[in-house]
Amino acid sequence: MTPVSYFPHKNNEMFVENIALSDIAQHVQTPFYCYSSTAIETSFQAYKNAFSSQDALICYAVKANSNQAVLATLAKLGSGADVVSMGEIRRAITAGIPADKIVYSGVAKTEEEIHYALSLGIFQFNVESEPELELISKVATSLNKTAAIAFRINPDVCAQTHAKISTGKAENKFGVPISKARIAYKRAASLPGIKVQGVDVHIGSQLTSLAPFEEAYQRIAELVNELRADGHEISVVDVGGGLGITYLDEIIPSKQSYADLVKAQLGHLNCKIIIEPGRSLLGNAGILVSSVVFIKNGEERQFLILDAGMNDLIRPSMYEAYHQIIAVNKGANELKTYDVVGPVCETGDTFAKARQVHKSDAGDLIAIMSSGAYGSVMSSSYNTRMLAPEVMVKGNEFAIVKKRPSYEEIIKQDIIPSWL
Ligand SMILES: *Cc1c(COP(=O)(O)O)cnc(C)c1O
Repeated sequence: MTPVSYFPHKNNEMFVENIALSDIAQHVQTPFYCYSSTAIETSFQAYKNAFSSQDALICYAVKANSNQAVLATLAKLGSGADVVSMGEIRRAITAGIPADKIVYSGVAKTEEEIHYALSLGIFQFNVESEPELELISKVATSLNKTAAIAFRINPDVCAQTHAKISTGKAENKFGVPISKARIAYKRAASLPGIKVQGVDVHIGSQLTSLAPFEEAYQRIAELVNELRADGHEISVVDVGGGLGITYLDEIIPSKQSYADLVKAQLGHLNCKIIIEPGRSLLGNAGILVSSVVFIKNGEERQFLILDAGMNDLIRPSMYEAYHQIIAVNKGANELKTYDVVGPVCETGDTFAKARQVHKSDAGDLIAIMSSGAYGSVMSSSYNTRMLAPEVMVKGNEFAIVKKRPSYEEIIKQDIIPSWL
């Protein structure tokens, strides 16, 4: 799936499935996120088909995009959920994902969160440290429950991705070092309220090569054999997420070749496989639609000033991420070179420098592509800008799946103390 697969131009006009984006923009003021339901379904089915010869459960990584409409779309197709907070568990359950398809990751699960997850009966805790293990044991015992656990293993491999989304090196905060894994499992087996069930690994995000996965899964397979020799029953291997997407011209291994790699490295263990894709399901299923507020002629550059900013989509300023920027109406045949910036009072509020975009005027619509994952979920109301609404399209229909708040709603969250 390329960034424009589900957002094609027809007669110079950008469409989402069968609807012209300009039609949606008339109903929903910019900026707004727009998702293609068919794109989400298609990429989920691609994973399902790729893993059809394996006992695999797809647990969508909710943090990539946690809108209820997105989760409900995936729930209907049989998806489970990989969650990292009580809030995400609640979102998953509310959207119809059953508790027994939920795996719970994250380095800082609190007692309250563990209590909640145990009371629901989730499939597995992916435990990131020994103190967390002890806490889960304590809470499980007090509830007279058993927590099925896997340790998240830090295999010390380089994911060859951006430093801020690389998680599988020894220096990262995630997981139990592979060298300490056997001690951790021994401790787990001795604790009340704990059932050792699996092994988990997640080495990073936006991986564009299979090589780091191969290295990690090789180490995990060896570890599973060692753990079994130590007497543990390991029936689940959670291989994490992390397969990348094409933002510009990255060539991403197919889901099938990824599935084949998992089978080749781990198939002989006869474990249930959990996969936790996020970006690769949602990234190219969504865009951020914005309007040009002004064209500003600087001394050296032309600025295309948008009504969307870093508060709406932080990836360019946070990760130096590249997003294609495309005029919704390509009527002007001429391309111009712009610095594409937002309204926020930070120099970092820049989507692209010296980028070629069709010549645009104030009021024109601009699409920031590949924004379906880690877009809306990372947004904020910095500069007291309203959170962008979200729209989902299916065929000839569209629906607002998250509405824009009012200024009253934003401001009334603050409370002036009585003594002021
Ligand atoms: C973020 C995350 C994922 C999803 O990563 P993607 O790169 O979006 O596929 C999966 N598992 C864990 C534990 C994560 O933290």
